[in-house]
Parts: sequence; structure tokens; C-alpha cells
Amino acid sequence: MTATRVLVINSGSSSVKYQLLDMRDHSRLAVGLVERIGERSSRLRHTPGRGGEVRERTGPIADHASALKSVAEELAADGLGLDSPELAAIGHRVVHGGKRFTEPTVIDEPVLKEIERLIPVAPLHNPANLTGIRTALALRPDLPQVAVFDTAFHTTMPEAAARYAIDVETADAHRVRRYGFHGTSHAYVSRETAKLLGRAPQEVNVIVLHLGNGASASAVRGGRCVDTSMGLTPLEGLVMGTRSGDVDPAVVFHLKRVGGMSADEIDVLLNTRSGLVGLCGDNDMREIRRRIDEGDERAQLAFDVYIHRLKKYIGAYYAVLGRVDAVVFTAGVGENAAPVREAALAGLEGLGLEVDPALNTARADGPRVISPEGARVVVAVVPTDEELEIATQTYALVGGGSA
Ligand code: AMP
Repeated sequence: MTATRVLVINSGSSSVKYQLLDMRDHSRLAVGLVERIGERSSRLRHTPGRGGEVRERTGPIADHASALKSVAEELAADGLGLDSPELAAIGHRVVHGGKRFTEPTVIDEPVLKEIERLIPVAPLHNPANLTGIRTALALRPDLPQVAVFDTAFHTTMPEAAARYAIDVETADAHRVRRYGFHGTSHAYVSRETAKLLGRAPQEVNVIVLHLGNGASASAVRGGRCVDTSMGLTPLEGLVMGTRSGDVDPAVVFHLKRVGGMSADEIDVLLNTRSGLVGLCGDNDMREIRRRIDEGDERAQLAFDVYIHRLKKYIGAYYAVLGRVDAVVFTAGVGENAAPVREAALAGLEGLGLEVDPALNTARADGPRVISPEGARVVVAVVPTDEELEIATQTYALVGGGSA
């Protein structure tokens, strides 16, 4: 029997998301989430594939090891246990792969050491990712396990885009440079966009706008990333749900010297009390639109700042690419918020960018074009699927298919 299944694990600080995929048809055999690990009110929500009934477990789940053990039990209950000979590999999302990991990588001890070495540049994410990997390795030490890095797609950026203009020795000593994140999504969406255009990825230049609670833009030339808006950490760039995106770096010194805030307090401010939430108290674009419809000025301001920044990045990446074949929206806001897509491109007709109002507001699920027929640049909505991309890259690496 050929092993055709891949388990994808996305291990966060207090949560584990997982999906089991059958790589023959990309169907989901199981999808689930363990939340609030380490608390008394932990919860596991398991959705079997093919219309099976959702199962929930509540009650304390002490740590990631117990969480993954519970996940393994749920899978086993449907005959899909981790010991199944049909399981080809486990693919792990790893947020930070630094400069070294340019490709998905089979995990061994030196790889674990390197992910650990990157903790100072990803203190929130890499430790949680490592815990998930170690737990899964303990459960199935014999099975190939693959790390798929959020940063990998961006390692093709030229030095001119990746370097910050600060003292080179200081920057290098502390590994300060633009790494970029959401790479799995940018890779998947830019490739799917080429498919939508009926062209090879090598032939097309695309601006990808990944607008979720976290948000980032990238400029992709011929299938390779040439610039992206997130930097050393996922804080730089676009206005996000709770993150500020770009600010003058001197804001930090000012808040420290004049505002009396500590570095940690400023970190929390910029990561969790900024962005849409900082501007208007809400980070859900649906709620912000509802408030705007009621005449709420703070919500309107938040929307305007969000759109202004987005438009600046579209213009910047247009200039970086020189020729743009497609601008594509993805993730929670990008896929669902027609007013955001319309406002972001309003007034850019001179660049060949236009949105057809009927196509933009039509309800649809799959990849779709929303620019008018014959437009110079295709504007599209392409749903992202990071789990499928992780599974595809993992499966290809263990010899199961091609990515
Ligand atoms: P993500 O991080 O990709 O899951 O995106 C989550 C965000 O998408 C939420 O915080 C909302 O702001 C936004 N979102 C989800 N559904 C909708 C919708 N139907 N309309 C507008 N925004 C949405």
C-alpha cells in the first residue's frame, strides 16, 4: 500500500491546529484545533472529513504532548491513527527559518538545533513550533517529519530589498534583516494566480496582498519573491488587526524616553494594541464596516489608515516589479471584504488597476477575476490554503509527488 496521507501540524504557544490530507485528491480526512493548552478550560475540536460529526473535548490539557496525544486518539477513533501505514509524513509549520532554510527540510537533530538558534529573532513562535515538532517526533520517531518555513519563500529577495540601511556589522552580528513571513501563503497564492491566468509562474509578475488578522504584501517576479512588507519580525508593513505595521523607529525611543514606557510595554503596544484595534477598538473588518455604515468616525479613520497604507504598498511594489500582470487579494479580509478591495484600488486606473463592481461583490468561493474584461492588469481573489501548501511541499520532499 502506498502512503498517501500527510498530517499538517501548526503548533502555537497555547494552541495546536492540525489537518490530515489525502494527497491523491487533496481531500481533508480530518481538521482540528486544540486551544488554551495549559489552562483549565482547554478545548479540542475535531472535524472528521466527508461530513462527519464535529467532536469536542473540554477540560484541562496540560501541555503540547498531552494535546497531540489527544489528537492522535481522535484520529485513531476514525481509523486514521498516527500508526497507520498510509501516513507518509508529518509537515510542521515553522515561522522563522532565518537565511539558512530556503526550502522545506526533513527534520533531524541539526535542523532542530538551528530552529532553536533562531529563537532570539522569533521568540513568540519558534519555541512553540519546536515543542510541537519534538512531541510529534516522540510519537512517531520513525516517520519523516518536515519543517515548512514561513520565511522560506522570501529568501530569494535581493540584498537591496532584504537589507536595512543600518551599520552592516551591527546588523549582521544580530542577524537584523528583512526575512518576511506568510511565505507559504504568498507562494501558494502567487502560483494559483498564474494558473488562473493560464500561464506559467515563471512568466508572471504578481503583487500578493495577504490580508488576514496579520497582513503582508509581496512582490513576486516570475515565481520568485523580490520584496515583502514584513521584516525582521511580523510587525512591519501593512496595518493589521492588532499590529501597527510601519512606524518611524524613533516612535519607540520617544515612547521610552518621553512616555516612560519599557521596551516590553512598547512591544505589547505595537503588537497587540495597535493596528485596527488601536485605531478604533475593533479588529474585525465586518464590525468596522458595520460601524462605518452607522456613521462611526473612529471606524472610518481606522479604515482610511488601513487603505492608505495598502495603497502605498501596491504603488511601491508596482514600481519594484516594473510590469505587473496581476494584483491578488487573499486571507480573511482579502477574500471577503469587497469594500477593502474596491477602496485599495480606487483611483489607480492610470496604473491599469480597476475593479468591476459586480464581479467584486458577487458571492463566490474559488479563485476569481474581479477586474473588468480587457483590463491591463488582472485583479483577482485567490483563497489561500497554507495547510495544503505545507502538505504538498512535505509530500514532495518525502518522494510522494511534486510540489
Ligand atoms: P485570517 O487571519 O485570514 O483568518 O483573517 C481574519 C480576519 O478576516 C478577521 O479578523 C476579519 O477582519 C476578516 N474577515 C473574515 N470574514 C470576513 C468577512 N466576511 N468580511 C470582512 N472581513 C472578514
